[in-house]
Amino acid sequence: MSCSDGDHVPGSELEPTGRAMSVLSERVVALLAEFVDGLDDAPAARVELPEGLATALGRPPPEQPTELPALLDTVRQAAQVAVETAGPRFFGYIPGGGLFASALAELLAQTLNRYTGLSEIAAGLVALEDGVLRWLCRLFGLPPGAGGLLTTGGSMATLSMLVAARQDRLGDGAGCGATVGTIYISDQTNHCVRKAARIAGFPATQLRALSTTAELRIDVEAAEATIAADRAAGMRPFLLVATAGTTSAGVIDPLADLAALARRHGMWYHVDACYGGFFQLTERGRARLAGIEQADSISLDPHKSLFLPYGTGALLVRKVSALVAAHTDDADYLHDLHGGALPDFAHLGAELTRGNRGLRLWLPLHLHGVHAFRAALDEKLDLAHWAHTELSADGRLEVPYPCELSTVLFRLRRGDDSDGDNGTFLRRINATGRVFLSSTRLRGRLTLRLCVLSHRTHAGHVHEAVSVIRQVAESIT
Ligand SMILES: *Cc1c(COP(=O)(O)O)cnc(C)c1O
Repeated sequence: MSCSDGDHVPGSELEPTGRAMSVLSERVVALLAEFVDGLDDAPAARVELPEGLATALGRPPPEQPTELPALLDTVRQAAQVAVETAGPRFFGYIPGGGLFASALAELLAQTLNRYTGLSEIAAGLVALEDGVLRWLCRLFGLPPGAGGLLTTGGSMATLSMLVAARQDRLGDGAGCGATVGTIYISDQTNHCVRKAARIAGFPATQLRALSTTAELRIDVEAAEATIAADRAAGMRPFLLVATAGTTSAGVIDPLADLAALARRHGMWYHVDACYGGFFQLTERGRARLAGIEQADSISLDPHKSLFLPYGTGALLVRKVSALVAAHTDDADYLHDLHGGALPDFAHLGAELTRGNRGLRLWLPLHLHGVHAFRAALDEKLDLAHWAHTELSADGRLEVPYPCELSTVLFRLRRGDDSDGDNGTFLRRINATGRVFLSSTRLRGRLTLRLCVLSHRTHAGHVHEAVSVIRQVAESIT
């Protein structure tokens, strides 16, 4: 069915009739149902983009309408050329998943198209989004006065955090402290913090990479010494970033000790919980994340450990007024608005016009209930722990770090050229098409990673991953 000839509202070719909306949506949902049903057996990756297809996909839009089925066929072909990040065999990087309920919420949000930047324009949906944010603040033990913002991801949350910390601790004098304000990260911190600092105008010399212990956690004593020395040299240490689940190894920094250190030096304390944050919903996760409640700010990625589709991050701030102070400005064309008890998200972040992100969390959380998320996260902890035990028992493999959350690190023991061998090991594992893993460099050594996080990954998939790893190790050693 095309959207021409009677299927649109008379006089408006861009407006399908109600009946046409149903037919169009049904076709899309039919394609998606087939896609999701096929995920279990789909290859873990199909990355070669044929030249002819690339040309076809890059064609400019035509003057005249095209039928939807033909367009969906194009989408299907385009989507096929990819690492199957939505599927259960994706263990690379930090897996996402993509809850269907979130996609439905997105359809609602985008069709309702409410402007949620300023609460007076869409008080209802802002109240709903605010409810989600307040739930998150409570989950992490933040006190009244805390608040937050849903962003497009962890990187944008980090940028807003960094400018709030700068404004709060260094004020907005000349250069905003860019030549004296120093930021403390570790050699395991996600690179988005460096990127945010650069965007915010801090030269690389103002970032200090703190050393980590043998277990890859920030060494608190060494950090104390570095910070004290910088202060003595006239620097102004203003921001300490800890990580609750590092991207490489899934390791949690000593959150409570670092909170105390930041407090002693009057620094803003940020906890990057983009990977590990939602394990807070589980008993084991809550125990491991103890100390997170002392943070000045926490960044989260619902598109990682809450299984949402890509495009949703969150920033929680203990004193939401600090976020407002860094992001509010005056505008003549907004003077008829007065605000109220609800947050004005346009004043909490860099965006003025923004998508309504609240529904993406609200709908799945309410539709499935929080217990379903807790159970799924507990399942990921169990599966990763199992894989860690199994791989540790394999004499051909070295499993150098404990499994704190849901990431398992391993490499081949043997080989003169251990990096070369492990590079081959990874390529051969992925070439099976049954799993997709990625690698990282830890203490200078190439190390393979298996990260279990998709809501679609269950015991059978992890069992198969371990058996593929064993078979390939056998064939190499
Ligand atoms: C993924 C990740 C980020 C960056 O978040 P994006 O959503 O990819 O922008 C930051 N910190 C950690 C620990 C991460 O795993």
